Amino acid sequence: METVINHQRAYFLDKNTWSLERRCAVLNDLKNTLKSNENRIEDALKADFGKSAFETYTTELGMLYEEISRTKRGLRKWMKPKPVATNLVNWPAQSYILTEPLGVNLIIGAWNYPVLLLLQPAVSALAAGNTVVLKPSENAPHVAALLQELIDQNFDPAHLALVQADASGTEKLLALPWDHIFFTGSTHVGKIVYQAAAKQLIPVTLELGGKSPAIVTPSCDVKLSAKRLVWGKFLNAGQTCVAPDYVMVHESIRVLFLKACTAEIEKAQYCSGSHNYCQIINDRHWDRLVKLLDPDKVFYGGTIDQQKRFIQPTIMTGVTFDDPVMQEEIFGPLLPVMGYQNLDDALASIKALEKPLAAYIFSSRKDEVRKILSDLSFGGGAVNDVVMHLTNPNLPFGGVGQSGQGAYHGHYGYLRFSHQKSILHKNNWFELPLKYAPLTAKKLKWIKKILK
Ligand code: NAD
Repeated sequence: METVINHQRAYFLDKNTWSLERRCAVLNDLKNTLKSNENRIEDALKADFGKSAFETYTTELGMLYEEISRTKRGLRKWMKPKPVATNLVNWPAQSYILTEPLGVNLIIGAWNYPVLLLLQPAVSALAAGNTVVLKPSENAPHVAALLQELIDQNFDPAHLALVQADASGTEKLLALPWDHIFFTGSTHVGKIVYQAAAKQLIPVTLELGGKSPAIVTPSCDVKLSAKRLVWGKFLNAGQTCVAPDYVMVHESIRVLFLKACTAEIEKAQYCSGSHNYCQIINDRHWDRLVKLLDPDKVFYGGTIDQQKRFIQPTIMTGVTFDDPVMQEEIFGPLLPVMGYQNLDDALASIKALEKPLAAYIFSSRKDEVRKILSDLSFGGGAVNDVVMHLTNPNLPFGGVGQSGQGAYHGHYGYLRFSHQKSILHKNNWFELPLKYAPLTAKKLKWIKKILK
């Protein structure tokens, strides 16, 4: 691996990755490689966890194509120096910000969207003029093997390479001299990455998870809220970092809301082997989820099948914040629905947990929305919807506190993989004499008029 890094560093320092043409060319290569292997990518995702071709396109490939197209459209402008105003003490001068690639980047992906979460940051990194080593998740082995083949065959490893590693192999990778590590995964492993990077003062981006709440107030459109919530919760069988983890619904509409959710689940016909619904990724996660599924608290669903790694979309009621299902990020198709009487109390319970990656508000009252948005700290979210905020490239995507640091997507991704170099470009036709010795009282008087 050290050889790959050394080649990448030499390639980068020779400025092979810097020109607009080279950046666009590598993005085109990436898009063409994906396009000409769509069927194989679909098969790999199906083999790893039964994901359908429809969802592979909508939640992985389509998003990547869109990210590449938009990035290419914006790139020329993003690469230009950005002029900013010059303050009085520096006059006459021009001030501007240059974006400079960081260098050799390690991108570590998660398994739940194994193509998108590895390659979307790579799009930003390559667009910003970097070299990249990709480390896919070992928990989606068919995708990892296919991506290895596609990257090996279609890219110069000095520019874009892929290496497969398990946890201990990845820990070794973290000890190498990267210029930036971009990690997507759990908060637990995020801490390992952060500690390893700190030893060499390597900057990190951490895209982590958390327990993302949905708050459903009496002013919402109950049916539509249930429809959107159910879609976002059971997409990818609940294995989505920004899936609503649990719902807090006002007692006055609790029964109505539960009925609407049940109706939506039935309408969607989620069942084992169906193209509407995928499997749990592996036995370890299946076991973990089944332990969280308290049969006494199942309101709807609860059917499981170990052989097929299937867990039916399940709504749990009578749950409290002390239950096991509320002690960790669920990351599966279990939806605890808890009633609340008073919005302040509900917000206090949510705030007692770590800051989540997302939060969702279902309400048609502006004052409620304003209050919740200002009271809760979370990475990003939506009002009257779930998950979809991350599909808008004009919104930065990332967490806060325990749910991560640093955001990407679109221009934010470009900036994430760039250093913003500040330049004061001084003119020579005038020199303000105030800062130079002799340091007289008169000069100080003038300085005090300027710096006040
Ligand atoms: P994970 O933390 O188990 O694994 C992520 C990556 O870290 C994998 O590539 C894995 O090989 C590597 N890894 C595992 N153990 C390691 C170790 N000891 N040292 C170094 N590397 C190690 O996460 P996961 O199970 O793949 O994904 C689920 C988690 O990721 C959830 O918490 C979810 O919320 C979060 N997630 C976040 C985002 C986001 O964009 N913020 C997206 C998807 C998933």
